[in-house]
Amino acid sequence: MSLFSAVELAPRDPILGLNEQFAADTNPNKVNLGVGVYFDENGKLPLLACVQAAEKAMMATPKPRGYLPIDGIAAYDDGVKKLVFGADSEPYRSGRVATVQGLGGTGALKIGADFLKHLNPKAKVLISDPSWENHRALFTQAGFEVGTYRYYDAATRQLDFDGMLADLQAAAAGTIVVLHACCHNPTGYDITPAQWDQVIAAVKARGLTPFLDMAYQGFADGIAEDGAVIGKFVAAGLTFFVSTSFSKSFSLYGERVGALSVLCTDKEEAARVLSQLKIMIRTNYSNPPTHGGAVVATVLGDAALRAQWEQELAGMRTRIKAMRQALVKGLKAAGVKKDMGFITTQVGMFSYSGLSKDQMVRLRNEFGVYGTDTGRMCVAALNEKNIDYVCQSIAKVM
Ligand code: PMP
Repeated sequence: MSLFSAVELAPRDPILGLNEQFAADTNPNKVNLGVGVYFDENGKLPLLACVQAAEKAMMATPKPRGYLPIDGIAAYDDGVKKLVFGADSEPYRSGRVATVQGLGGTGALKIGADFLKHLNPKAKVLISDPSWENHRALFTQAGFEVGTYRYYDAATRQLDFDGMLADLQAAAAGTIVVLHACCHNPTGYDITPAQWDQVIAAVKARGLTPFLDMAYQGFADGIAEDGAVIGKFVAAGLTFFVSTSFSKSFSLYGERVGALSVLCTDKEEAARVLSQLKIMIRTNYSNPPTHGGAVVATVLGDAALRAQWEQELAGMRTRIKAMRQALVKGLKAAGVKKDMGFITTQVGMFSYSGLSKDQMVRLRNEFGVYGTDTGRMCVAALNEKNIDYVCQSIAKVM
């Protein structure tokens, strides 16, 4: 009898499990549309020129690697605040944003979840139905009961905005609502600015706690355009949480660079909140790693590198949009009768294709085209070389 005799074998992570299956697949035409990673036109993970330039500058004056402050690099946190709220914004200028460097967007979400559990232990959490798989798991691990608000209607393959609004309007005061700031994962459908106004009105009327997850800023319409939703919450006089990820926008997945920002009522409140966030960090991993944060801080803090980053990010965004159009065209050419035009109204890395689990399994087993069982495909992994094969394969299972 061991201490671990009763430990159950947990199911494999659905997406990372797909990766393992993909790696073992011997089909020479195989295409991985499972994981949410941007690949360039050659199917390669990009190393951005702005990142290389920042690293070169950093190497020119190498620094010893002491511990960072618990909340991370000061210039990094400052850069995040300016990026998320705007350098000229009232929240930034008044100093009422508490920002900490996080281990990717995931780490930022978890710091926020742990802090919220202390603050309001009885609160429930609502995530969209469907949502990024890890939202539920992460808030559940933090000790919350996690429910959903309606978001996507599988029958019409469209947003269920009326359902979303009704569910928010019925939520108990204090409920934590996780909202995708842009590029909804997994559906690719974002709500319109006018719909955001209605969501904000419901959040305000019901006294809900908004937690905006911004993992794809710059992938829908642009950095400022995608960040505009933050300005709407500020204008409504709300206090709220924002998690930022630079995994995709800087192609720095393995460096784990993200941040949590909490907009407070005033500067003094922000200082108190920051002191509590630091306890969450100190008792988990003490302080963040240096390299990724230093790279991002360097790029954000240098006008030329920042301009280069914006250009490179625009390149990724434009290429994804072109692939969406090519997918719609290619599916039609491959004989798909159904109107697949909805793919171009979706934004960000993903498309909810509307394909059934059976069709997705066939795509994988017969054609080596890997998406999730829910029908989610990463359009950011398509390129001129694999798109025809993907279109023909999809046409055969439809
Ligand atoms: N939120 C959403 C909606 C995401 O899609 C992701 C990345 N898949 C994250 C958060 C986490 O990002 P990171 O890899 O930086 O932890």
